[in-house]
Amino acid sequence: PALVSLKNVSKTFANGTVALRDMSLDISRGDFVSLLGPSGCGKSTALRIIAGLGDASSGSLAWPVRSPVDDKSGTGGPNQDISFVFQEPTLMPWASVFSNVYLPLRLKGLSRTAAREDVMDALQMVGLESSAGSYPRELSGGMKMRVSIARALVTKPKLLLMDEPFAALDEITRFKLNNDLLHLWEKFGWTVIFVTHSVFESVYLSNRIIVMAARPGRVVQDIAVDAPYPRE
Ligand code: ADP
Ligand code: ADP
Repeated sequence: PALVSLKNVSKTFANGTVALRDMSLDISRGDFVSLLGPSGCGKSTALRIIAGLGDASSGSLAWPVRSPVDDKSGTGGPNQDISFVFQEPTLMPWASVFSNVYLPLRLKGLSRTAAREDVMDALQMVGLESSAGSYPRELSGGMKMRVSIARALVTKPKLLLMDEPFAALDEITRFKLNNDLLHLWEKFGWTVIFVTHSVFESVYLSNRIIVMAARPGRVVQDIAVDAPYPRE
């Protein structure tokens, strides 16, 4: 059974822009799906509709868990079932790495002490346990992105949505993060929807690539990827 299901979803914005036309999609538990396509083809719009951050103009979204509140904090708000990672790491600059990752659990009402183990586990996943006391300004772009990922994972979400998360990073950092993300996914088996315009990333990371075309945004291919590359 699908974890998330879009049926004939269309989206027309108030200014008349048709961002999506008739998009249907079933995401299964454990999928690592890439949404691949040129800028403006509706990838972010589709992701926002799945997350409940935007409404479809027509069609339906079947989704067994609730939607997150409409915020851009990257924490998924009080709904712990979905986490969102954005291209720009939206960290609180005045708070330590520990506090940034703790935020979603704090919103959930957990004390710092009660959350400590989960926060440190999440930091360990991304290799930053020794930076818990650092501040965002002391970190590289890649490290900030790791903190954002740790913050997204700390609540153990059912669905991880990533909107071009690595686009702002240099190529080497990006490659390292791709590898780390892949290893984490292989180990923990989350369900991930990963928006990218990189063919490389989509082929390397996902087990399924959904190719979208613009004007108006629609799905043109839905490709199963059977681990084409040997991974170390
Ligand atoms: P992608 O993520 O693939 O780059 P988007 O989903 O961001 O594409 O955008 C799809 C189309 O919808 C684009 O033409 C974009 O300009 C338009 N669009 C996105 N958001 C809005 C908005 N709030 N109002 C009007 N048009 C929008
Ligand atoms: P702020 O209150 O400005 O967010 P911090 O998040 O750095 O500042 O610290 C708030 C409190 O949390 C302080 O008492 C600090 O000692 C404690 N703290 C900071 N980092 C950690 C950590 N890694 N583990 C446990 N407690 C921490």
